[in-house]
Amino acid sequence: MRAAVTDCRELAVRFGLPPGWLAEAEPAAARFGLRLPPALLEAAAGGGADDPVLRQYLPRGEELRAVAGFSADPLRESGFRRAPALLQKYPGRALLVVSGACPVHCRYCFRRHFPYAQHVGDLRPALQAIAADSTIEEVILSGGDPLMLDDDRLGRLLDALEAIPSVLRLRLHTRMPLAVPERLNRALLARLGRSRLRPLTVIHCNHPREVTAAAAAALERLHQAGLQGLNQAVLLRGVNDAADTLCELSRRLFQHRILPYYLHLLDPVAGAAHFEVPEAEAQALVAEMQARLPGYLVPRLVREIPGRASKTPIAPGYSGKK
Ligand SMILES: *Cc1c(COP(=O)(O)O)cnc(C)c1O
Ligand code: SF4
Repeated sequence: MRAAVTDCRELAVRFGLPPGWLAEAEPAAARFGLRLPPALLEAAAGGGADDPVLRQYLPRGEELRAVAGFSADPLRESGFRRAPALLQKYPGRALLVVSGACPVHCRYCFRRHFPYAQHVGDLRPALQAIAADSTIEEVILSGGDPLMLDDDRLGRLLDALEAIPSVLRLRLHTRMPLAVPERLNRALLARLGRSRLRPLTVIHCNHPREVTAAAAAALERLHQAGLQGLNQAVLLRGVNDAADTLCELSRRLFQHRILPYYLHLLDPVAGAAHFEVPEAEAQALVAEMQARLPGYLVPRLVREIPGRASKTPIAPGYSGKK
Protein backbone atom coordinates (compact mmCIF):
# COMPACT_ATOMS: atom_id res chain seq x y z
CA MET A 1 0.00 0.00 0.00
CA ARG A 2 2.89 2.30 0.73
CA ALA A 3 4.07 1.75 -2.85
CA ALA A 4 0.92 3.39 -4.25
CA VAL A 5 1.49 6.39 -6.51
CA THR A 6 -0.10 9.48 -4.94
CA ASP A 7 1.78 12.20 -6.79
CA CYS A 8 0.38 13.41 -10.12
CA ARG A 9 3.85 14.32 -11.40
CA GLU A 10 5.11 10.82 -10.80
CA LEU A 11 2.10 9.40 -12.63
CA ALA A 12 2.62 11.82 -15.54
CA VAL A 13 6.22 10.62 -15.90
CA ARG A 14 5.32 6.93 -15.66
CA PHE A 15 2.53 7.10 -18.20
CA GLY A 16 3.90 9.89 -20.37
CA LEU A 17 0.81 12.03 -19.70
CA PRO A 18 0.79 15.48 -21.30
CA PRO A 19 1.59 18.68 -19.32
CA GLY A 20 -1.97 19.86 -19.96
CA TRP A 21 -3.23 16.90 -17.95
CA LEU A 22 -0.95 17.68 -15.04
CA ALA A 23 -2.08 21.30 -14.84
CA GLU A 24 -5.73 20.19 -14.65
CA ALA A 25 -5.16 17.17 -12.45
CA GLU A 26 -3.38 18.81 -9.56
CA PRO A 27 -6.33 20.97 -8.39
CA ALA A 28 -8.66 17.97 -8.74
CA ALA A 29 -6.27 15.78 -6.75
CA ALA A 30 -6.10 18.45 -4.05
CA ARG A 31 -9.82 17.76 -3.42
CA PHE A 32 -9.69 13.96 -3.65
CA GLY A 33 -6.20 12.56 -3.79
CA LEU A 34 -4.65 10.40 -6.45
CA ARG A 35 -4.00 6.89 -5.15
CA LEU A 36 -3.00 4.06 -7.42
CA PRO A 37 -1.32 0.93 -6.03
CA PRO A 38 1.19 -1.24 -7.95
CA ALA A 39 -1.20 -3.99 -9.07
CA LEU A 40 -3.50 -1.47 -10.77
CA LEU A 41 -0.54 0.49 -12.17
CA GLU A 42 0.43 -2.78 -13.79
CA ALA A 43 -3.12 -3.31 -15.08
CA ALA A 44 -3.01 0.14 -16.69
CA ALA A 45 0.59 -0.19 -17.96
CA GLY A 46 1.20 1.23 -21.39
CA GLY A 47 -2.09 3.11 -21.42
CA GLY A 48 -2.58 6.82 -21.99
CA ALA A 49 -5.04 9.24 -20.41
CA ASP A 50 -7.92 7.50 -22.18
CA ASP A 51 -6.94 4.00 -21.15
CA PRO A 52 -10.10 2.37 -19.73
CA VAL A 53 -8.33 1.12 -16.60
CA LEU A 54 -6.37 4.29 -15.91
CA ARG A 55 -9.35 6.56 -16.58
CA GLN A 56 -11.06 5.31 -13.41
CA TYR A 57 -8.26 6.66 -11.23
CA LEU A 58 -7.05 9.69 -13.13
CA PRO A 59 -7.87 13.11 -11.63
CA ARG A 60 -9.21 15.52 -14.25
CA GLY A 61 -10.06 19.19 -14.49
CA GLU A 62 -13.67 18.41 -15.35
CA GLU A 63 -14.20 17.05 -11.80
CA LEU A 64 -14.23 20.63 -10.57
CA ARG A 65 -17.06 21.67 -12.87
CA ALA A 66 -20.48 21.92 -11.21
CA VAL A 67 -23.05 19.80 -13.07
CA ALA A 68 -26.78 20.01 -12.37
CA GLY A 69 -28.04 16.93 -10.54
CA PHE A 70 -24.58 15.92 -9.23
CA SER A 71 -24.04 16.53 -5.52
CA ALA A 72 -21.75 15.71 -2.60
CA ASP A 73 -24.16 13.21 -0.99
CA PRO A 74 -26.27 11.86 -3.87
CA LEU A 75 -27.57 8.92 -1.83
CA ARG A 76 -28.37 11.07 1.23
CA GLU A 77 -26.49 8.54 3.30
CA SER A 78 -26.24 10.68 6.42
CA GLY A 79 -30.01 10.18 6.81
CA PHE A 80 -29.55 6.43 7.25
CA ARG A 81 -27.19 6.53 10.21
CA ARG A 82 -28.39 4.18 12.98
CA ALA A 83 -25.34 4.65 15.18
CA PRO A 84 -21.84 5.98 14.58
CA ALA A 85 -20.36 3.88 11.74
CA LEU A 86 -23.66 2.03 11.15
CA LEU A 87 -25.81 2.73 8.10
CA GLN A 88 -29.07 0.93 7.50
CA LYS A 89 -31.10 1.49 4.37
CA TYR A 90 -32.60 -1.91 3.83
CA PRO A 91 -34.45 -4.31 6.10
CA GLY A 92 -32.43 -7.24 7.44
CA ARG A 93 -29.01 -5.92 6.61
CA ALA A 94 -26.87 -3.11 7.92
CA LEU A 95 -23.60 -1.66 6.77
CA LEU A 96 -20.65 -1.01 9.06
CA VAL A 97 -18.26 1.72 7.92
CA VAL A 98 -15.14 0.21 9.45
CA SER A 99 -12.52 2.31 7.69
CA GLY A 100 -12.41 5.67 5.95
CA ALA A 101 -9.48 4.65 3.80
CA CYS A 102 -9.16 2.78 0.52
CA PRO A 103 -6.19 1.18 -1.22
CA VAL A 104 -7.14 3.02 -4.42
CA HIS A 105 -9.10 6.19 -5.16
CA CYS A 106 -11.78 5.75 -7.82
CA ARG A 107 -12.77 9.10 -9.25
CA TYR A 108 -16.46 8.13 -9.57
CA CYS A 109 -16.73 6.99 -5.95
CA PHE A 110 -20.11 7.89 -4.42
CA ARG A 111 -18.40 8.27 -1.05
CA ARG A 112 -15.68 10.59 -2.32
CA HIS A 113 -17.10 13.42 -0.22
CA PHE A 114 -18.31 11.18 2.62
CA PRO A 115 -17.67 12.70 6.06
CA TYR A 116 -15.76 9.68 7.34
CA ALA A 117 -14.57 11.55 10.41
CA GLN A 118 -18.20 11.58 11.63
CA HIS A 119 -18.65 7.88 10.99
CA VAL A 120 -15.45 5.97 11.59
CA GLY A 121 -14.10 5.39 15.05
CA ASP A 122 -15.30 3.37 18.00
CA LEU A 123 -17.40 0.48 16.70
CA ARG A 124 -18.89 -0.44 20.08
CA PRO A 125 -22.09 1.63 19.77
CA ALA A 126 -22.71 0.10 16.34
CA LEU A 127 -22.16 -3.42 17.67
CA GLN A 128 -24.56 -2.68 20.54
CA ALA A 129 -27.18 -1.42 18.08
CA ILE A 130 -26.80 -4.59 15.98
CA ALA A 131 -27.09 -6.80 19.06
CA ALA A 132 -30.18 -4.92 20.21
CA ASP A 133 -32.00 -5.34 16.89
CA SER A 134 -32.72 -8.97 16.08
CA THR A 135 -34.01 -8.06 12.62
CA ILE A 136 -30.44 -7.37 11.46
CA GLU A 137 -29.36 -10.78 10.20
CA GLU A 138 -26.63 -9.61 7.88
CA VAL A 139 -23.77 -7.24 8.47
CA ILE A 140 -21.85 -5.72 5.58
CA LEU A 141 -18.31 -4.57 6.27
CA SER A 142 -17.65 -1.55 4.11
CA GLY A 143 -15.88 1.77 4.20
CA GLY A 144 -13.67 2.82 2.59
CA ASP A 145 -12.31 -0.67 2.35
CA PRO A 146 -12.79 -2.99 5.32
CA LEU A 147 -9.56 -4.82 4.51
CA MET A 148 -7.67 -1.63 5.42
CA LEU A 149 -8.02 -2.92 9.00
CA ASP A 150 -5.21 -5.21 10.03
CA ASP A 151 -5.79 -8.90 10.73
CA ASP A 152 -5.97 -8.42 14.49
CA ARG A 153 -8.65 -5.75 14.34
CA LEU A 154 -10.64 -7.67 11.77
CA GLY A 155 -10.35 -10.80 13.87
CA ARG A 156 -11.68 -8.99 16.93
CA LEU A 157 -14.52 -7.51 14.90
CA LEU A 158 -15.42 -10.98 13.62
CA ASP A 159 -15.34 -12.35 17.18
CA ALA A 160 -17.74 -9.60 18.25
CA LEU A 161 -20.15 -10.18 15.37
CA GLU A 162 -20.08 -13.96 15.79
CA ALA A 163 -21.03 -13.47 19.43
CA ILE A 164 -24.34 -11.86 18.40
CA PRO A 165 -26.77 -14.78 17.86
CA SER A 166 -29.15 -12.84 15.61
CA VAL A 167 -26.38 -12.11 13.09
CA LEU A 168 -26.41 -14.95 10.56
CA ARG A 169 -24.38 -13.64 7.64
CA LEU A 170 -21.41 -11.42 6.94
CA ARG A 171 -20.44 -9.65 3.77
CA LEU A 172 -17.25 -7.85 2.83
CA HIS A 173 -17.36 -5.18 0.15
CA THR A 174 -13.78 -4.77 -1.00
CA ARG A 175 -11.63 -3.71 -3.90
CA MET A 176 -8.55 -5.16 -2.22
CA PRO A 177 -8.24 -8.38 -4.31
CA LEU A 178 -7.53 -6.19 -7.35
CA ALA A 179 -5.84 -3.22 -5.70
CA VAL A 180 -3.52 -4.98 -3.24
CA PRO A 181 -3.91 -8.73 -3.87
CA GLU A 182 -1.26 -9.55 -1.24
CA ARG A 183 -3.69 -8.32 1.43
CA LEU A 184 -5.67 -11.55 1.02
CA ASN A 185 -3.15 -13.50 3.04
CA ARG A 186 -3.65 -17.03 4.24
CA ALA A 187 -4.14 -16.16 7.92
CA LEU A 188 -6.91 -13.69 7.12
CA LEU A 189 -8.62 -16.07 4.73
CA ALA A 190 -8.39 -18.94 7.19
CA ARG A 191 -10.03 -16.78 9.88
CA LEU A 192 -12.83 -15.78 7.52
CA GLY A 193 -13.20 -19.32 6.23
CA ARG A 194 -13.95 -20.77 9.64
CA SER A 195 -16.55 -18.16 10.54
CA ARG A 196 -20.07 -19.41 11.17
CA LEU A 197 -21.21 -16.25 9.33
CA ARG A 198 -20.16 -17.76 5.96
CA PRO A 199 -18.52 -14.56 4.76
CA LEU A 200 -19.42 -13.53 1.25
CA THR A 201 -16.89 -11.33 -0.53
CA VAL A 202 -18.25 -8.80 -2.99
CA ILE A 203 -15.36 -7.50 -5.04
CA HIS A 204 -15.52 -4.44 -7.27
CA CYS A 205 -14.03 -4.94 -10.72
CA ASN A 206 -15.00 -2.81 -13.71
CA HIS A 207 -12.67 -3.95 -16.44
CA PRO A 208 -11.30 -7.40 -17.35
CA ARG A 209 -7.73 -6.08 -17.46
CA GLU A 210 -7.91 -5.34 -13.74
CA VAL A 211 -7.69 -9.08 -13.12
CA THR A 212 -3.88 -9.25 -13.15
CA ALA A 213 -2.03 -12.49 -12.43
CA ALA A 214 -1.64 -11.41 -8.79
CA ALA A 215 -5.35 -10.60 -8.51
CA ALA A 216 -6.25 -13.96 -10.07
CA ALA A 217 -4.06 -15.71 -7.48
CA ALA A 218 -5.79 -13.78 -4.68
CA LEU A 219 -9.21 -14.84 -6.00
CA GLU A 220 -8.00 -18.43 -6.12
CA ARG A 221 -6.92 -18.21 -2.45
CA LEU A 222 -10.34 -16.78 -1.62
CA HIS A 223 -12.00 -19.75 -3.26
CA GLN A 224 -9.68 -22.24 -1.59
CA ALA A 225 -10.59 -20.76 1.77
CA GLY A 226 -14.22 -21.65 1.02
CA LEU A 227 -15.40 -18.08 0.58
CA GLN A 228 -17.96 -17.25 -2.07
CA GLY A 229 -17.26 -14.31 -4.31
CA LEU A 230 -19.47 -11.95 -6.29
CA ASN A 231 -18.64 -8.85 -8.31
CA GLN A 232 -20.25 -5.47 -8.41
CA ALA A 233 -19.28 -3.12 -11.20
CA VAL A 234 -20.23 0.43 -12.04
CA LEU A 235 -21.10 1.25 -15.63
CA LEU A 236 -18.65 3.99 -16.61
CA ARG A 237 -18.25 6.02 -19.78
CA GLY A 238 -14.91 5.29 -21.41
CA VAL A 239 -14.20 2.36 -19.09
CA ASN A 240 -16.67 -0.47 -19.63
CA ASP A 241 -19.48 1.04 -21.75
CA ALA A 242 -19.19 -1.61 -24.47
CA ALA A 243 -20.88 -5.02 -24.64
CA ASP A 244 -17.57 -6.71 -25.55
CA THR A 245 -15.89 -5.36 -22.42
CA LEU A 246 -18.78 -6.25 -20.12
CA CYS A 247 -19.04 -9.78 -21.54
CA GLU A 248 -15.30 -10.27 -21.22
CA LEU A 249 -15.46 -9.05 -17.61
CA SER A 250 -18.07 -11.70 -16.75
CA ARG A 251 -16.14 -14.45 -18.54
CA ARG A 252 -12.85 -13.51 -17.00
CA LEU A 253 -14.21 -13.31 -13.46
CA PHE A 254 -15.99 -16.64 -13.86
CA GLN A 255 -12.60 -18.21 -14.62
CA HIS A 256 -11.62 -17.03 -11.15
CA ARG A 257 -14.86 -18.25 -9.58
CA ILE A 258 -16.51 -14.86 -9.21
CA LEU A 259 -20.11 -14.44 -10.41
CA PRO A 260 -21.59 -11.09 -11.43
CA TYR A 261 -23.93 -9.49 -8.91
CA TYR A 262 -24.77 -5.86 -9.70
CA LEU A 263 -24.02 -3.51 -12.55
CA HIS A 264 -24.68 -0.11 -10.99
CA LEU A 265 -25.67 2.99 -12.84
CA LEU A 266 -23.42 5.83 -11.75
CA ASP A 267 -24.47 7.61 -8.58
CA PRO A 268 -24.62 11.32 -9.38
CA VAL A 269 -21.76 12.40 -7.14
CA ALA A 270 -20.12 15.77 -7.76
CA GLY A 271 -16.94 15.35 -9.80
CA ALA A 272 -18.02 12.21 -11.65
CA ALA A 273 -20.34 13.51 -14.37
CA HIS A 274 -17.84 12.61 -17.11
CA PHE A 275 -18.48 8.93 -16.33
CA GLU A 276 -22.23 8.99 -16.85
CA VAL A 277 -23.89 6.50 -19.21
CA PRO A 278 -27.60 7.18 -19.87
CA GLU A 279 -30.11 4.62 -18.67
CA ALA A 280 -31.35 3.66 -22.14
CA GLU A 281 -27.81 2.90 -23.26
CA ALA A 282 -27.24 0.82 -20.13
CA GLN A 283 -30.41 -1.17 -20.83
CA ALA A 284 -29.26 -1.86 -24.38
CA LEU A 285 -25.82 -2.99 -23.17
CA VAL A 286 -27.29 -5.45 -20.69
CA ALA A 287 -29.74 -6.73 -23.29
CA GLU A 288 -26.73 -7.39 -25.50
CA MET A 289 -25.02 -9.27 -22.66
CA GLN A 290 -28.19 -11.31 -22.21
CA ALA A 291 -28.16 -12.22 -25.88
CA ARG A 292 -24.56 -13.41 -25.70
CA LEU A 293 -24.06 -14.98 -22.29
CA PRO A 294 -25.68 -17.58 -20.04
CA GLY A 295 -28.05 -15.97 -17.57
CA TYR A 296 -25.74 -16.46 -14.59
CA LEU A 297 -23.06 -14.30 -16.22
CA VAL A 298 -25.41 -11.33 -16.65
CA PRO A 299 -25.34 -8.86 -13.72
CA ARG A 300 -28.46 -7.16 -12.43
CA LEU A 301 -28.63 -3.60 -13.68
CA VAL A 302 -29.58 -1.35 -10.77
CA ARG A 303 -29.78 2.24 -9.69
CA GLU A 304 -29.83 3.49 -6.15
CA ILE A 305 -32.70 5.82 -5.36
CA PRO A 306 -32.55 7.19 -1.81
CA GLY A 307 -35.47 6.11 0.36
CA ARG A 308 -36.35 2.93 -1.52
CA ALA A 309 -36.33 -0.42 0.30
CA SER A 310 -33.75 -1.91 -2.05
CA LYS A 311 -31.62 -0.99 -5.02
CA THR A 312 -33.94 -0.31 -7.95
CA PRO A 313 -33.73 -2.88 -10.76
CA ILE A 314 -33.66 -1.49 -14.29
CA ALA A 315 -35.08 -3.91 -16.83
CA PRO A 316 -32.51 -4.59 -19.55
CA GLY A 317 -35.01 -4.70 -22.37
CA TYR A 318 -34.74 -7.22 -25.15
CA SER A 319 -32.07 -7.07 -27.79
CA GLY A 320 -34.34 -8.56 -30.46
CA LYS A 321 -31.45 -10.55 -31.91
CA LYS A 322 -31.93 -14.10 -33.13
C1 LIG B 1 -26.26 -1.45 -1.38
C2 LIG B 1 -26.39 -1.43 0.08
C3 LIG B 1 -26.63 -2.62 0.78
C4 LIG B 1 -26.71 -3.97 0.11
O1 LIG B 1 -27.80 -4.17 -0.68
P1 LIG B 1 -28.00 -5.61 -1.35
O2 LIG B 1 -29.05 -5.40 -2.34
O3 LIG B 1 -28.33 -6.55 -0.26
O4 LIG B 1 -26.66 -5.96 -1.96
C5 LIG B 1 -26.80 -2.56 2.14
N1 LIG B 1 -26.71 -1.40 2.81
C6 LIG B 1 -26.46 -0.24 2.17
C7 LIG B 1 -26.39 1.00 2.98
C8 LIG B 1 -26.27 -0.22 0.78
O5 LIG B 1 -25.99 0.94 0.17
S1 SF4 C 1 -12.55 1.42 -3.48
FE1 SF4 C 1 -14.77 1.74 -3.34
S2 SF4 C 1 -15.05 3.12 -1.57
FE2 SF4 C 1 -12.86 3.21 -2.19
S3 SF4 C 1 -12.67 4.95 -3.62
FE3 SF4 C 1 -13.04 3.11 -4.86
S4 SF4 C 1 -15.29 3.02 -5.13
FE4 SF4 C 1 -14.85 4.41 -3.40
